[in-house]
Amino acid sequence: ETLDKGLEKTKTSFFGKLSKAVAGKSKVDDEVLDNLEEVLVTSDVGVETTLKVIDRIEARVSKDKYLGTAELNQILRDEIAGLLSETNIGEATEFTIPSEKKPYVIMVVGVNGVGKTTTIGKLAYQFKKQGLKVVLGAADTFRAAAIDQLQVWADRVDVPIVKQNMGSDPASVAFDTLQSAVNQNADVVIIDTAGRLHNKVNLMNELTKVKRVMQKVVPDTPNDVLLVLDGSTGQNAFEQAKQFTAATEVTSLAVTKLDGTAKGGVVIGISDQFKIPVKYIGVGEGIEDLQVFNKHEFVDSFFK
Ligand code: GDP
Repeated sequence: ETLDKGLEKTKTSFFGKLSKAVAGKSKVDDEVLDNLEEVLVTSDVGVETTLKVIDRIEARVSKDKYLGTAELNQILRDEIAGLLSETNIGEATEFTIPSEKKPYVIMVVGVNGVGKTTTIGKLAYQFKKQGLKVVLGAADTFRAAAIDQLQVWADRVDVPIVKQNMGSDPASVAFDTLQSAVNQNADVVIIDTAGRLHNKVNLMNELTKVKRVMQKVVPDTPNDVLLVLDGSTGQNAFEQAKQFTAATEVTSLAVTKLDGTAKGGVVIGISDQFKIPVKYIGVGEGIEDLQVFNKHEFVDSFFK
């Protein structure tokens, strides 16, 4: 399966460590709990979430109770699935948008280099494949490369793009994009935004203005504010999530580059700590390498 393939490194590493942690053990004692804690922390689940999982396991099995490895794996799997379900992650496996909202507007945020443009291209491809009419907006006007890269994806997927010159007002690009989408009776609009984090107040002001201007064209937009995080950066992804959620209301997450990393555990920690659903995961550079995040498949892929 593609999911397994994309997460191979995380899976091998996680499962390998897990097996070692409980190898030859037949009871849950302090040593086993310490080992499990280390496995989770080194898999980038994050300290807070790790401690929560360990507490729950401790509460579930009375100490020094004799357990088989399979049983211990099952408990761990249940607890991790439980953490993911708390964030209300859907069971979806298909790329869908609510049909009653037209155009459905997705504003994409995230720092440069995390895979924002690629994720926008892959999403546009998925929606177009379903017969939906997609329009892209190049509102990251800070870097010429950002506009050019989005154009490359627009050409590749064959969807229209609305852009202006580098340095123009991002809110103005967003306004034009929504107007064009309404005129074309488009189904989905995906707007790229600048990912500079050097000044939190600037970032907040810019995103707020982009949103306000969008609402002049289509009330109650954006329908989704998608934060893109690079899963291979481990704890940096947590830090970025913290900063962006402070700057704007983030409604969903895309975690990219999980194919090249053993740090797939970040997905678990980030969902738990920010209570924002992980909607998509990036598992490669190709156009098809974006998947709808499904918690059951994700957890299963680790414990299979
Ligand atoms: P942006 O600056 O955030 O827009 O980042 P880009 O979309 O340009 O992506 C930066 C680099 O990461 C490019 O080389 C992409 O091909 C690569 N990339 C994006 N998503 C993924 C992914 O899921 N897996 C892998 N392996 N590479 C990715």
